[in-house]
Amino acid sequence: MTTLLIRGGSLYPADPAHRVIPGGAVLVDGDRIAAVGTTAEVEAAIRPEQRAELAVLDARGAMILPGFVNPHWHEMFAMRFPFKGALRTPGDRDDRPAFMAAGGDIPAISSAFDDFAGMIADLTPDEARAIARYSMWTQLRSGVTTLGDVGSFNHPAALADAARFLGLRCSLSTWASDARCAPGESRFRRTRDADTVLAGVEEVIRDVAGDTTGLLRARPTAVYSVNMTDELGTGFADLIRRYDLPFATHVGALRNEVEVSRTYFGATPVRRFADLGLLSPRFMAVHCAFADDDERKLLVDANAHVSYSPAKYGPAGEATVTETRAMPYFRRAGLDVSLSTDGAPLPVGGMAENMRAVWQQLNEMSADPTEVRPTDALAMATRLPARGLDWAGIGSLEPGHQADIVLIRTDDWRYLLNPRPLESFLALGGSRDVDTVLVAGRVRVRGGRPVGFDDDELRARYLDALASFSVRRLGVDPEVVAGHIHTATSPGGD
Ligand SMILES: [Zn+2]
Repeated sequence: MTTLLIRGGSLYPADPAHRVIPGGAVLVDGDRIAAVGTTAEVEAAIRPEQRAELAVLDARGAMILPGFVNPHWHEMFAMRFPFKGALRTPGDRDDRPAFMAAGGDIPAISSAFDDFAGMIADLTPDEARAIARYSMWTQLRSGVTTLGDVGSFNHPAALADAARFLGLRCSLSTWASDARCAPGESRFRRTRDADTVLAGVEEVIRDVAGDTTGLLRARPTAVYSVNMTDELGTGFADLIRRYDLPFATHVGALRNEVEVSRTYFGATPVRRFADLGLLSPRFMAVHCAFADDDERKLLVDANAHVSYSPAKYGPAGEATVTETRAMPYFRRAGLDVSLSTDGAPLPVGGMAENMRAVWQQLNEMSADPTEVRPTDALAMATRLPARGLDWAGIGSLEPGHQADIVLIRTDDWRYLLNPRPLESFLALGGSRDVDTVLVAGRVRVRGGRPVGFDDDELRARYLDALASFSVRRLGVDPEVVAGHIHTATSPGGD
């Protein structure tokens, strides 16, 4: 591997000092960062033997950022036809709030999530791989260099294959559900043997232990507090202790969750995780707007991590942080609060859009433009989620860290005479503006295009796999599927 000098850009290392370095540079040696600073400082740090085979990337007119770390994501692209996706009408006037909206129909959500667990196994390995590669490409294209799976509608082996193919980091998990809170009942129903679910998690942990790429990790996750028996929770606690791993779960996501949990399980969700021995600094509470006072105290006392996805809630009609003001509360209490995209069958807002959302929403909520500064939003998309995933050596541009780097062009009208390009990016930029992505020192995206593979081919294989799974397993009319895919692949359909 050669040595790469990226120089002349507006450098935001996302380090603990929140430095901003105009005319900055990063020296990459192999997979790691060798130096960070002004271009003059970094050029002076180049050793003679590095100079002999030095490649230079001119970053003038661009921002240099750490790769985005997305610690709460789901691969869901197999469900693009039936589930809030491609079969909707073009017009939106007849839309009605669905089960995530208006506080959440928790029994309906719990039942749907539990059904997913039974459907995932019906993807063939070839379908699973083709879907995972295209789905994860859309994340890499958006500047994400590390994904944290919190349960996917796909096979862990397919996510691992896609991560290796794309050169993208991924913390793997499973879709772990052993219970449902069926509508109209008052006690949860056990739907699977907890030990069988746990054996699937342990298989992922063991497979990842044999990985030699450095791209893969494992993190057990519960798909939702209302899909987990105490036996499954106890088993998770045992696994993370034996294998020394972090843990994540959806919890406190919707207004009606606490009441359903009390009814069906006899306790609030966070209280259950505490009683099962799962709360710790390595516990990632995903969403978590609706923790009650007791639960908030448990999370703060445990120094847990909170990750949320503000760009998703409005479009989904989910109850949001505005109602409870939980995120400013957790941040002031000293917890790490990070951003994430969540997942859906269609692409949802990326890390760039979530940075915009947290910057706009929390400042508006507080009537204070310093509540979340642009560099805070960046840290919430890079350094803090890396800590939440418990993945050392990524998330900020510092000597010795992995060279996971994103370049975003800043040489157009949006950035004219603004000495703070990150601010213009949050106001007017987005995922599509990501120009260059490096993971572990290797260029994976250049000029918005993939390096080393053809994204048109990935998309074609995805659509074939989607069609076959949708017809065979989901019962979608083959002619309807063919018609939609023909439209999608016709000239001008991109
Ligand atoms: Zn989620």
